[in-house]
Amino acid sequence: MKLYEKFGKGKCVFSFEVFPPKKSTAPDVIYAAADGLKEFSPAFISVTYGAGGTGVGNVTCKIASHIKKELGIDSAAHLTCVSSTKAEVDEILADLKANGIDNILALRGDISPERPPKNDFHYASELIEYIRSKDDSFGISAGCYPECHPECDSLDQDIDNLKRKVDAGAQHLMSQLFFDNDSFYRFLEKSRAKGIDVPVEAGIMPVVNKNQIERMVSLCGASLPHKFTKMMARFESNPEALREAGIAYAIDQIIDLISNGVDGIHLYTMNNLYVAGKISSTVNGLL
Ligand code: FAD
Repeated sequence: MKLYEKFGKGKCVFSFEVFPPKKSTAPDVIYAAADGLKEFSPAFISVTYGAGGTGVGNVTCKIASHIKKELGIDSAAHLTCVSSTKAEVDEILADLKANGIDNILALRGDISPERPPKNDFHYASELIEYIRSKDDSFGISAGCYPECHPECDSLDQDIDNLKRKVDAGAQHLMSQLFFDNDSFYRFLEKSRAKGIDVPVEAGIMPVVNKNQIERMVSLCGASLPHKFTKMMARFESNPEALREAGIAYAIDQIIDLISNGVDGIHLYTMNNLYVAGKISSTVNGLL
C-alpha cells in the first residue's frame, strides 16, 4: 500500500523509522529489532539509507523487504541521490521493485567530503522527478524541515523548495526531528498557505542518551526549548532517569500534536525496542 493512502481527515498515522546495522553490528540485530516493533502496530516502518553506494541501498532494501514480507507491515526505503549516478539509482529502483517495496522516501542526502557529490542529481526534487519518469508505480515521500533546512537562508525559501518536491510528485512528507511543537505548527501553517496539501508527519526523536541528542542537534540544528535543556541538565549524570524523562518529553510532545490534529507521528526509534514500546503503549491508546 502507498503511504499517502493511509492518511485521512480526523486520523493520526503512527509510524516508525529504523536504521540498518552499522558494520560492527551483527545483521541479525536489526531483524530482531524490526520483529520486536511489530507488536506496537505501526502503520508503516521506514528504513534509512546510509552513506552512498548500491551496497548500502541493498541493505536498506533487504530490511524493508523483510518488514513487508515477513512482518506484514508496509515499509518505505529511504534513498539519497546526491552521491549517486542515474545508473546507480536505476539499479536500486530495480532492486526495490524486485523485492516488492512500494514506497520510497526520496532525499538529496548530506553533502560531505567522504561522499563527494556526483553531478546527476542536485536536489531531492530531481530524484522525485526521475523516479516518476522511470516507474510511476512507487509511492513517493520526501523530507521537510520545521525549523528550516540548515543550508537554506529562510524558512519561506525552504518551503518554496519543498513545494517543488510536492509538485514533482511527493505525496507525503516526513519531518526532521524537533523539540518545540510551536515550530512545527508555524511551519505547517506556512506550508498550507503555500499550497502544500499532502499529509505531513511530525518527526519525534525521544532522548535516549546525552551523546545521541548532542550529535543529532549539531547535525540538524533543532532548537532546544528551556524545558528540554533543564531536563537534560537535571538528569545528565543519571542515564536511566534521562531516558525515562526523554520518553516522557516525547509523549508530551505527541499528545499535544495529536490534540492539534496532526496527520501523523513518525517516531525515530533508533532501533530501541524499550523506548518504542513505552511510547507506543501510550500513543496507541490515543489514536
Ligand atoms: P532537498 O530537498 O534537495 O533540499 C536540500 C537543500 O537545498 C535545502 O536547503 C533546500 O531548501 C535547497 N533546495 C532544494 N531545491 C532547491 C532548488 N531548486 N534551488 C535552490 N535550493 C534548493 N539522510 C541520509 O543520508 N539517509 C537517510 O536515510 C535520511 N533520512 C532522512 C529522513 C528524514 C525524514 C529527513 C527529514 C532527512 C533524512 N536524511 C537522511 C537527511 C537528508 O538527506 C539531509 O537533511 C539533506 O541535507 C537534505 O535532504 P533533502 O532531501 O531534504 O534535500
